[in-house]
Amino acid sequence: VTAVGIIGLGNMGRGMALSLQRAGFAVTGTDVSVDVRQQLADEGISTVDCVAGLAARVEVIVLSLPTAAIVSQVVTQPGGILDSASPGVLVIDTSTSHPDTTRQLAVQLRAAGMALVDAPVSGGAGKALTGELGMMVGGSRADVARAQPILAAMSAKCVHVGDAGAGHVAKIANNLMCAAHLLVAGEVTRLAEHAGVPADKLLSAINAASGRSAVTEVNYPTWILNDAFNSGFTMQLMRKDVRLAAELADSSGLVLPLTQAVTGLWQQSAATIADGEDFNRIVASDRL
Ligand code: NAD
Repeated sequence: VTAVGIIGLGNMGRGMALSLQRAGFAVTGTDVSVDVRQQLADEGISTVDCVAGLAARVEVIVLSLPTAAIVSQVVTQPGGILDSASPGVLVIDTSTSHPDTTRQLAVQLRAAGMALVDAPVSGGAGKALTGELGMMVGGSRADVARAQPILAAMSAKCVHVGDAGAGHVAKIANNLMCAAHLLVAGEVTRLAEHAGVPADKLLSAINAASGRSAVTEVNYPTWILNDAFNSGFTMQLMRKDVRLAAELADSSGLVLPLTQAVTGLWQQSAATIADGEDFNRIVASDRL
C-alpha cells in the first residue's frame, strides 16, 4: 500500500484525503490549522502536526495549498519537504500556483532525487469529495506515469499537458475563461431582464444554444439563481487566479485586451466583495 501524505486539508484537501483513503491508500494529512487537523482526524484521517513529521513517513506528498508562495515555503523552508523527505519522494502539487514557481521547485526537488508533478484541479470541493475532479497535469512522462494511480483516485479526467509547470499554465487559462464567463453571464442576464426576459428562462434557452458554458450550465443553477452562493471557492482564491493570469499575460508581451478588461474588473471587486465571499458573487458586477 502506497503511503500518501497530504499537506493542506481545506475545502479541496479534505475531499482529496478522503478520496485517497477510500481508494485504499495509507493517508496521513497535515495543516497549519489545529481545528482543520482535528476535523479531519474526526473523519478518520490520520494527522500529524508538521510537514517534517509527514514527509518522513510517506512516498508521495500531495499539496493543496492557497498560494505559490506557501507552496514554495512548504517545499524549501527548514523542516520542509526538501529538508525532511527521502530521495525518491514524489510531490504532486494540486494547488493553483505560478508556473515559474513550479518549474523552480521541480529543479530543486530533482536535484535532491525527488520529483514534482503539477496537477491543479477543477470541479470544486464537491468533486474533490467524490474523487471526480478534472486535472491538468505537468511533469515528465515517467513522473506522471508514477503519479497516475494517485491522480486517478482523485479525478474523473486527467490531461497531461506538458512538462512541470504546464499544468499550472492550463489551470490559469481555464480559470481566466471561467472568470470572463461569470462576468459576461452576469451582464447578459441583467440585459435580458431589462428587456423583459427573466434570468431562468434566458439560461434555459442559452443552455440549448451556442452561448452556453460551465457558468451557465453549472454555476447559475447550483449557486447563483437559488441565491445559495456556497460553492466552497472564495473570492480571495479566484482573485489570486486572476492575478496569476494577469502576471502571465504581462510577462508574455502579447496584446490581450479582453484579458486586461477581465482581470481589471476582478481586481476592482476587492473594494466591494469581501475575500471570504463566494466567487460567484462577481455576477453582480454592476455593483463593483
Ligand atoms: P482552503 O483555504 O480551504 O485550504 C487551504 C488549506 O491550507 C487551509 O486549511 C490552510 O490552513 C492550509 N495551509 C495554509 N498554509 C499552510 C502551510 N504552510 N502548511 C500547511 N497547511 C497550510 O483552500 P481550498 O479552497 O482548499 O484551495 C486549495 C487550492 O486549490 C488553492 O490553490 C485553490 O486555488 C485551489 N482550488 C480550489 C478550488 C475550490 O473550489 N475551492 C477549486 C480548484 C482549485
